[in-house]
Amino acid sequence: MNAEIIAIGSEMLTPERVDTNSLFLTGELNNLGIEVVAKHVVGDDRERLTTTIRRSLADVKFLLISGGLGPTEDDVTRDAVAAALGRPQIFHADISDGIEERFRRMKRVMPEINKRQAMVIEGAEVLSNDRGTAPGQWIVDDDSVVMILPGPPYELKSMFTRECLPRLRAMVPPMVIRTQVYRISGMSESDLDQTIAPIYKPYENPATTVLAHNGDLQVHLRARCETEAEALALLAEVGGRIEEALGDRIYARDSSTLEEIVGRKLKERGQTLAVAESATGGGLAERITSVPGSSAYFVGGFVTYATRLKHELLGVPTEILEQYGAVSAHTAEAMAIGTREKTGADWAVSITGNAGPTSDGPQSPVGAVYIGIAGPNGAETFHRVWPSSDRPRVRAFAGQMALDMLNRALG
Ligand code: ATP
Repeated sequence: MNAEIIAIGSEMLTPERVDTNSLFLTGELNNLGIEVVAKHVVGDDRERLTTTIRRSLADVKFLLISGGLGPTEDDVTRDAVAAALGRPQIFHADISDGIEERFRRMKRVMPEINKRQAMVIEGAEVLSNDRGTAPGQWIVDDDSVVMILPGPPYELKSMFTRECLPRLRAMVPPMVIRTQVYRISGMSESDLDQTIAPIYKPYENPATTVLAHNGDLQVHLRARCETEAEALALLAEVGGRIEEALGDRIYARDSSTLEEIVGRKLKERGQTLAVAESATGGGLAERITSVPGSSAYFVGGFVTYATRLKHELLGVPTEILEQYGAVSAHTAEAMAIGTREKTGADWAVSITGNAGPTSDGPQSPVGAVYIGIAGPNGAETFHRVWPSSDRPRVRAFAGQMALDMLNRALG
C-alpha cells in the first residue's frame, strides 16, 4: 500500500518556510506499513493543484493533502479536489454554525467568507478540527482515499491522529513494527555504507536507513511483520551481521548520544573529566554539560584560544608552541596533560585545529584537527584533516572526534 502527500502553500516555495507536515504524516503512515512514494509542494494555484491531484490519484491508494483550507480566495484546496474528482461541493449548515459558534466564543462575528469553509465535497466524510476552524475531509474515490487536512501543524496532527488513524487502521492489515538503532562514530558515511550495504541491500524488510550528521552516523532498521517474534528475528538476523561488520565503531544500540555514553562510563568508574579547547571554543564542554547530571564527573575546562593562554593557563612549553605550532600533535598532547594536572581530573581532552575558512599556512591546513587525551595511563593524540572548509562543520566534527576518542580510551 502506498501514499503520496501534497503540501499546499506558496510560502513553502520560498526559502522562509519548509513543509514539516509531510514528515509527521510519513512517520505515521510508515508505522501502519504504508509507504510514501512521492511528496509534492504546490503553490496556491488551483489549476496546478488539480493537475497534481489527478496525477497522484492515478498512482496511489492514499493521497494526503495539507493546507489551503482557509476562507480566502487563495485557499484553493477544496475547489481543486472537487475539480480533480469531478464532484460538486455542498454547503453544510451545521459546519457553518459550528464555525460561527467558535467565533462567538472568541467574542467575534464570523466574516461571511468563512462560509466557504463549510463547503464539503459530495460523498466526503467530514473530519472535525478541534484546534481550528477548517474541517478536513475523507473522500473515497474508486480504490483510492483522499484526505484533506489543515495546514497548521498543530491542527493537522490532532485531526490526523483522531480522525484518520482509526480509519486507516481499519483498512490496512495489522502489522507489528520493531526498530533497531545503531549509533556509529569514527568513520565516514561512505565507508559505513560500503561496509554494510552488502548486508542490508538484499532485504526489503527490515528497511534500512543511514543518517549522517557532522560525523555522527546512525543506522535504523525497521522490521514490519505479522508478529513481534518475526520482527525481532529479522532485526537480529540483519542487525547481528551489521554489528559484526562494524565492531567497536558502534557506540550505542539505542538513542543515547556520545556525550551520554561517555558520561555514563565516567560515572560508573567514579572518574572525572576536564577539557581544553581551542578550535571549538567551548563547544565540547557545551555538549558534555548538556547531559543532566554531568556535574558528577565534569569538573570544567579552558578555552585557550590565544597561543599565549595555552602556555600561561595549561603550561604548554613555549618550545613546543614555537617549534611545532599551536595546531600540532605536540601541542594537543601538552594541552591535555596540562589540563589534567591543573584540574586534578582523571581524564583530560584537548582540541586544537584550524576550523577555517582560511588556511594558516602549510602546517595547519583548513580542517586540520588534533585531539589530545590524557588519562591515568598516559597521553595519546589523534589527527585528522576534515575535507571541509565550512567552519561550523569542522568545529562539529572536531567535537565529535574528541568524544569518540575519549569513549574509546575509556574502553
Ligand atoms: P487556516 O484555516 O489556518 O488558514 P489552512 O489549512 O488554510 O488553515 P494554510 O493557510 O495553508 O492552512 O497554512 C497555515 C499555516 O500553517 C502556514 O502559515 C504555515 O505556517 C503552516 N503550514 C501550512 N502547511 C504546512 C506544512 N506542510 N508544513 C508546515 N507548516 C505548514
